[in-house]
Order: sequence, then C-alpha cells, then structure tokens
Amino acid sequence: MSKRIAVVANASKESQEVLSNLTGLLRAAGFDLTQENPEIVVTVGGDGTLLRAMHDYEESLDKVRFVGVHTGHLGFYTDFLASDLTGLVAALQSENAQEAWHYPLLQVEVTCQNGSVTKHYALNESTIRRRAYTLVADVKISDLLFEKFRGDGLSVSTPTGSTAYNKSIGGAVMHPSVAAMQVAEIASLNNIVFRTLGASMIVSQKDRVVLCPEPADDYVLTIDQLEFNYSDISQISYRLDGATIAFANCGHTSFWERVRDSFIGDITD
Ligand code: NAP
Ligand code: MN
Repeated sequence: MSKRIAVVANASKESQEVLSNLTGLLRAAGFDLTQENPEIVVTVGGDGTLLRAMHDYEESLDKVRFVGVHTGHLGFYTDFLASDLTGLVAALQSENAQEAWHYPLLQVEVTCQNGSVTKHYALNESTIRRRAYTLVADVKISDLLFEKFRGDGLSVSTPTGSTAYNKSIGGAVMHPSVAAMQVAEIASLNNIVFRTLGASMIVSQKDRVVLCPEPADDYVLTIDQLEFNYSDISQISYRLDGATIAFANCGHTSFWERVRDSFIGDITD
C-alpha cells in the first residue's frame, strides 16, 4: 500500500510553485495524494503554515506525521529546504512511523461560570490577556496558591514553542525532550503593593498551572495563531496530558542546531 500524503502550502508564489512540483514528484513516485485521512502532512511555507496545518488536522494528530518544507527562512518546524524536493521524496519513501519524533502539546482547559468547559491544544503557546484592562488573576501551581498576577497577561508555552513568543518576552529556550511547560509574564506590574515572581517558570509535567482571573467580559485567549474571546471565565487550567505532535523522520536536524541557525547564524572568528 502506498503512503497517503497531504501537501498544504501557504499562498506565496514560491510555496505554490513548490506545491505543484512536489505533488508531481510524489505522484510519479507512487504516493497516494489525499487531503482526507493522510498518514503524512507535508507543509510548504513557514512555521506559521505548519501551525495552521496542525490545527486543521487536530482531530487526527495521533495518526498523522508532519514534515515541514520551508520556502522562506529556516523555521523550527520546517527542516526541509524547498530546493531538495527529490531528496524529500526519497526520505518520505524510507521513513516509518516508529522513527517519528514526538513533541508535547499544551492542553488548555477553560471553565466558565456557567460550568461549560472548552478544551484547546497549542503547539507553541497559549496567552491570556484582556482587551483593554490589566489582567488580575490568582496563579496556582497544582493546589498551591502561588501569586496574584497583575499585568498585561501570561503566556504558557510548550518546549518547541519556547523559541517563539515565549522567547520574545524573556522566556528561556527549552530543549523539546524536557517535558515541561513554561509560564512567562507579559508586562507584570511590580511595585510596593503588587508582587509577582518576575521570572519565567518551567513547570514539570506532573503539575498543572491554574489561573483564576477576576470576573470580566473581555478576555482574549490565544492558541498559537488563533484567537478566542471569553467572558466570565472561572478558571484556565494548563497541563501536558501526554498529547503530542509527530514529525516524520526525514532527516531531522538537532534542536540546538536549529536554534543556532535561526538566531545566531554563521559563526566566524
Ligand atoms: P507570525 O507573526 O508570522 O509569527 C511570528 C514569527 O514567529 C514568525 O517569524 C514565525 O516563523 C515565528 N515562529 C512561529 N513558531 C515558532 C517557533 N516555534 N519557534 C521560533 N519561531 C517561531 O505568525 P504565525 O506564523 O501565524 O505564527 C504564530 C506564532 O507567532 C505564535 O504562536 C507566536 O509564538 C508567534 N508570535 C510571536 C510574536 C513575538 O515574538 N512578538 C508575536 C506574535 C506571535 P515563520 O515566519 O516561519 O512563520
Ligand atoms: Mn508566519
């Protein structure tokens, strides 16, 4: 049986060209190209393209392996260079599910005053803020009341999301084999009256982080690039529940190599 592959691309001219070349090569190599129920999803574009594809296939993440081809700059979820499509087709032929790389997803559970519960999964991070006002929330780590946060908001990121928004707000870069989530502050208020930790926290998989925000009708919750408006939240619970995203092993570069190549570049004496 030939492998079922879906190819999704962003709208850029270059990505659309790669999409058409790659589908031709995959067809010629005998792959079954399908958008429904694929085993492998190849994305063409940037990290944002992969994030979108992850949410499009969110219901079948336990059955799908991803491969990212980058047409712009090197990305974190996009290992493959668009110029080596024949190499990619060969790698897709020889890869198998047992060799896939798994990275943790963040489960975010929002409970509202009326008892309704909404569950989301983030590949990078989830942030919470208010549209206009300061966010005030009790922060609990499992059963421990840890602090009363005041500020613009909080971000909770996955290990692979640590190089995204988390890094921009001063969070640490984490290796994805460390199964933990990172809580980072967004412009916290610290003075003689209000006190927060003022540093990002790496919270173990055995704990959950729970936020209990003050009643308000203008909460904005993000899940990667997606935005949700909430009112009357009673609590938001964050944990790593074992859900993962799988990446096909088509010649994955090491995490620290990707961090160096994306943020540092060539090192010359
Ligand atoms: P975007 O505005 O294009 O993303 C901002 C940048 O973050 C892009 O360069 C994107 O790469 C890069 N990126 C995405 N995931 C990354 C990761 N895991 N590690 C390192 N860089 C990463 O929006 P988008 O493409 O839809 O991506 C949504 C993500 O952007 C959010 O989850 C958030 O993490 C990030 N973001 C960051 C900031 C900030 O740093 N101030 C603000 C808003 C959003 P590509 O160009 O390859 O897509
Ligand atoms: Mn993007």
